[in-house]
Amino acid sequence: MPEILEVETARALLGERALDREITKVYAPDSWFLKRGLTPRTVRAALQGQSFTHARRRGKLILVDLSSGAVLGLHLGMSGRVLVDDEAAGDPLLYASNKADPAWHRFGVTFADGGTMYLRDPRRLGAVELDPDEDRLGPDAFDLTLAQLRAICAKSRAPIKAVLMDQSRIAGLGNLLTDEALWRAGIDPARIASTLDADDITTLHRAIRTTLRVLGRRGGSHTGDHMPARFPGGLCPRDGTPFERRTVGGRTTYSCPLHQH
Ligand SMILES: [Zn+2]
Repeated sequence: MPEILEVETARALLGERALDREITKVYAPDSWFLKRGLTPRTVRAALQGQSFTHARRRGKLILVDLSSGAVLGLHLGMSGRVLVDDEAAGDPLLYASNKADPAWHRFGVTFADGGTMYLRDPRRLGAVELDPDEDRLGPDAFDLTLAQLRAICAKSRAPIKAVLMDQSRIAGLGNLLTDEALWRAGIDPARIASTLDADDITTLHRAIRTTLRVLGRRGGSHTGDHMPARFPGGLCPRDGTPFERRTVGGRTTYSCPLHQH
């Protein structure tokens, strides 16, 4: 599932390859994929004759500015990929098997130069919207400050994992990145957020930054040190203790009962 690192790779591809090319055709065969009142007709009217001027991101939402001043919002959902001129962002080997199936193209544009941009999504859980409300999302995880994390934790009685994954509080962290960051920080995912003290929050803030930097460099949210032990009977890579498997914040969670508390 795409988390912030995969979405950032897709954003970077759009930023490098899809800007300043006039849009001549809009491909919107699946009206279910268009959200918040958008229709094939209105999205066509909004995009044709325009070009993309910037590709931004807030959490897992890609924001593509149009020359008209409108903003196209792209959600990758559980399995979405961005293709520009048939090239996908990220590791081509991971996706080679399903790369070429046009049945999974849920949305796209053709540029005046003949090139294309498509959102390919086998599971159809992504979405396209126009002028998304960016303020419904919290600060982007890459930009999260220590003071923001402290304020977010202080007022929450929910488990810390649920708080980190709540996109309205912090935008971009999903299940794998959250489990990795909490494992690195030595904090129990089920711990009530408001019980974290100043040292815990400083450690957690550093662990989130390290997780994003290290896993981003390695190639994605599935490359964590915690990842190889995410199965029943998996052993903590740090101390060899069998991982505990629970549901926290509605998601399957693996953590170490020895060093996470
Ligand atoms: Zn451990």
